[in-house]
Amino acid sequence: MKVAPEKLKVIAPATGEQIGEIDETPISQVDNFYQNSRFAFNQWSQLDVSERLDYLQKLKLVIVEQMDEVAKVVAKDTGKVLTEALIADVMPSIDGIDHICKHGEKVLKRRKVKTSILLMGKKSYIEYMPRGVVLVISPWNYPFQLAMVPIVSALASGNTVILKPSEVTPQVGKCIEDLFSKAGFPEGVVQVAHGGKEVGAAFTNGKPDYIFFTGSVRTGKIIQEVAAKQLIPTTLELGGKDPMIVFADAHLERAAKGAAWAAFTNSGQVCMSAERLYVEKNVYHSFLSLLKKEISALKQGTDIDSDVGSMTFPAQIQIVKEQLTDALSKGAVLEAGLPPEKWEDGMFLPLTVVTNVNHDMKMIQEESFGPIIPVIPFESEDEVVALANDSVYGLNASVWTKDIDKARRIASKLVTGAVVINDAIISIANHGLPFGGAKQSGIGRYHGEAGLRIFCHEKAIVEDSG
Ligand code: ADP
Repeated sequence: MKVAPEKLKVIAPATGEQIGEIDETPISQVDNFYQNSRFAFNQWSQLDVSERLDYLQKLKLVIVEQMDEVAKVVAKDTGKVLTEALIADVMPSIDGIDHICKHGEKVLKRRKVKTSILLMGKKSYIEYMPRGVVLVISPWNYPFQLAMVPIVSALASGNTVILKPSEVTPQVGKCIEDLFSKAGFPEGVVQVAHGGKEVGAAFTNGKPDYIFFTGSVRTGKIIQEVAAKQLIPTTLELGGKDPMIVFADAHLERAAKGAAWAAFTNSGQVCMSAERLYVEKNVYHSFLSLLKKEISALKQGTDIDSDVGSMTFPAQIQIVKEQLTDALSKGAVLEAGLPPEKWEDGMFLPLTVVTNVNHDMKMIQEESFGPIIPVIPFESEDEVVALANDSVYGLNASVWTKDIDKARRIASKLVTGAVVINDAIISIANHGLPFGGAKQSGIGRYHGEAGLRIFCHEKAIVEDSG
């Protein structure tokens, strides 16, 4: 007897309405997925890089032709404002594919290296060999690009891919599946498995050759443990508690705009959100006023002219609530927003600014992933570097000052995967630079050369003329 598949409910977070359902992938299918993927790998890995990039070009065209529709799916599944879905999720993915199409061949081609005198003139090369079947497990906050960019990077490098998208945004996962099928990829090269963490766990246990995971530190640690038992390499793109540092000599109006954007875009549900704001003491009060003015001008909602959409994942609201309650109970002061007991039901949280906070509070130690920003004064360069580095995370940071030497000095002392000077959040669209974290923000890099080569093992070849 054929058993009907379990259904994944599609809930629009902004309204709480169920807007569809998607068949969950039965765990009994895991082996079939891997068999299909390995079968497809035999041919896909044999194509020239240029042939694989031709497929990616077709994919890019299909996405460009349908980007309005794709953005609508993203906006519905996440509660993002439509323009944000288009500009910050769909378009960076197109740009990422474009970058790989332009530079992939150069990065992945066999590379000659200088030999030592001991090799007596023998030629030496590195060849970039695909790893096999890559399992991509993706999150809900930028559900399109955080799935699409690792997938296309793995494909360009000659791997086949199984995607397990987040169950919180299942329609986006379905949409990705449809786009690959419309672009005419050979059967089995990209497969999408729908479901929650049980499905994810079943696939991580199914002997992939590489796992590329984006999500929480908690789940990242579980995945790393499962991977270690099978001796499978991983990339882990995890959370952040990014510091933004504003010196008195910065362009304060610009910095205040940058802070409002970096803290509240996507309702703060960005791994690279500004999550701690350090302001030099002598401009602390004037900067706070500028920031509050910027925030009061932001419009929350789902209309096309809104600036900030809804939260996506209900459990995240509880985390933000607990952090704020903890801080307020220890003497923190609300400069904007409301105390949790006055929050309305639903998925829109007040845009919140908190002062009188310290590093013992949960709000400073843990990732918030919500529309909340603590502001802390500092007096010296050394002090602010120590404060910024006092975190288990190390993803991104920004430094705001007109003194470029000071900015560079500080940038090199921050233990983070990236630093931006006089701007907020490293541009997601900068596909030429490696992206990833230090400390518990993750392991490995993607984007740029590193992002293609990570999906390969390097084979050393030494050649004598015989
Ligand atoms: P969040 O808690 O914010 O949803 P997670 O890190 O738990 O973030 O989820 C990110 C992705 O990891 C999702 O696709 C989710 O289904 C998947 N996932 C969660 N737990 C596991 C697990 N134990 N094994 C494999 N995948 C998992």
